[in-house]
Amino acid sequence: MFIQSFRVESPNVKYSEESIDSIYDYQTTELVHENVNGKYEWVIKPKSVRYEFKTERRVPKLGVMLVGWGGNNGSTLTAGVIANRLGISWVTKEKIQQANYFGSLTQASTCRIGSFKGEEIHAPFKSLLPMVDPNDIVFGGWDINNMNLADAMARAKVLDIDLQKQLRPYMQGMNPLPGIYDPDFIAANQGERANNVVKGSKKEQVQKIIQDIRDFKSKTKVDKVVVLWTANTERYSDVIVGFNDTKETLLASLERNESEISPSTLYGLACVQENVPFINGSPQNTFVPGLIDLAITRNSIIAGDDFKSGQTKMKSVLVDFLVGAGLKPTSIVSYNHLGNNDGMNLSAPQTFRSKEISKSNVVDDMVASNAILYEPGEHPDHVVVIKYVPYVGDSKRAMDEYTSEIFMGGKNTLVIHNTCEDSLLAAPLILDLVLLAELCTRIQLKKEGEGKFHSFHPVASILSYLTKAPLVPPGTPVVNALAKQRAMLENIMRACVGLAPENNMTLEYK
Ligand code: NAD
Repeated sequence: MFIQSFRVESPNVKYSEESIDSIYDYQTTELVHENVNGKYEWVIKPKSVRYEFKTERRVPKLGVMLVGWGGNNGSTLTAGVIANRLGISWVTKEKIQQANYFGSLTQASTCRIGSFKGEEIHAPFKSLLPMVDPNDIVFGGWDINNMNLADAMARAKVLDIDLQKQLRPYMQGMNPLPGIYDPDFIAANQGERANNVVKGSKKEQVQKIIQDIRDFKSKTKVDKVVVLWTANTERYSDVIVGFNDTKETLLASLERNESEISPSTLYGLACVQENVPFINGSPQNTFVPGLIDLAITRNSIIAGDDFKSGQTKMKSVLVDFLVGAGLKPTSIVSYNHLGNNDGMNLSAPQTFRSKEISKSNVVDDMVASNAILYEPGEHPDHVVVIKYVPYVGDSKRAMDEYTSEIFMGGKNTLVIHNTCEDSLLAAPLILDLVLLAELCTRIQLKKEGEGKFHSFHPVASILSYLTKAPLVPPGTPVVNALAKQRAMLENIMRACVGLAPENNMTLEYK
């Protein structure tokens, strides 16, 4: 059975006009390595830690500024939201298609919230806490190419033509602001696109982005802005002690107009200085240590890196399943080919390298979790290949071969062939990222013993379900397994309304 909304009634939760206040007992463990009669043994002590959560109920009018607005993802997302807002349907060769938000965790997935007369009850994920309705988002942003969004949608060749025709009048007046362009950071083949660029020193460029955010806010009358990078993948920038390793050195490098500060880091600097959440949807190391340091000092939300949309999402499910089943993946080989502008940009070795890095670490936590299968330091062979094939356009092909060792020396090989429009996978993730980042700005928490409420850590690992290489606060474990990432997000949202984590015990039926 499905219900649209609910209210929790419990001594642990209070709804007021302004906020939802909950008390939550976090069941965790403490591990000690104890010497018992001259022999060391591990002792696990369950413990309960009390938290209080406070979630502001008033949902703001949200503005989303995309870096790379005129790209395939940016134009597809903008088109998709307008189509949903207007309830547009269009004719395909198969049927009349209605606009939807399929692929969005918040908009199109559900949570089990209990059982009623022997039936499982599910509710929309978005009903757990008050969230911005995506149909109300105001879009804006930057692009180094000046094409308006209607033409950009046509250039992307992602959406059906009948839909494009209906959307054109709403999108042709949308023009990206000039972007920060540095040919040293993206592939040379992007050069002819760059006809809409910000001039001046790096510091002046940061100031210009800050001014753009302020102007957008006042022009559109939105209450809050979230900025998300969906521009081309950049090469890695060098991380150098004394150059970008702390906020002081990074800001000093900005003063000196150092060439090694990437455009994405400049947008990040602008957002952090303006206290606007900044999310990186591409693989490069935008968040150099100095920028993370500055974000922590200014308590400004940052999240990334690289949307986890297709092949990597499958990998973080499949390897979790294999290792969790006691099977030992020993070789993972991933081939991709795609023909969109992202693919063309990734055909340069330096930008490909960024992608290769972000795709490579995705199984680390699963491998490290099972020392029965893997020796310390042992790792499956893991190879990633990406080729540019213009003909396939946005319809990306991903071919994966997983070989595992099974019972008594046997081998099991799984082969997956995945064909999908890349931007139709990424657009709903962008939506989730901005909606959840906004939600994070309205949640405060307090652990027992802490005097004051505070926000989550500004490095928003809570968004990691949506990213390939989750950025986490320094010293925090990285979780890649998709089910764990989803459970983390869902259970934190449940805690905010005083609900226990979903433990799947279904004891009521046992
Ligand atoms: P795209 O090439 O179609 O769009 C990128 C846009 O960014 C272009 O319009 C380009 O002109 C613009 N741009 C480049 N540098 C800029 C800058 N410094 N400032 C402002 N604009 C700039 O690419 P896409 O398919 O939309 O993908 C965007 C990014 O998302 C890529 O880095 C890609 O690797 C990443 N990504 C995509 C997916 C997916 O499934 N589509 C998954 C993970 C990551």
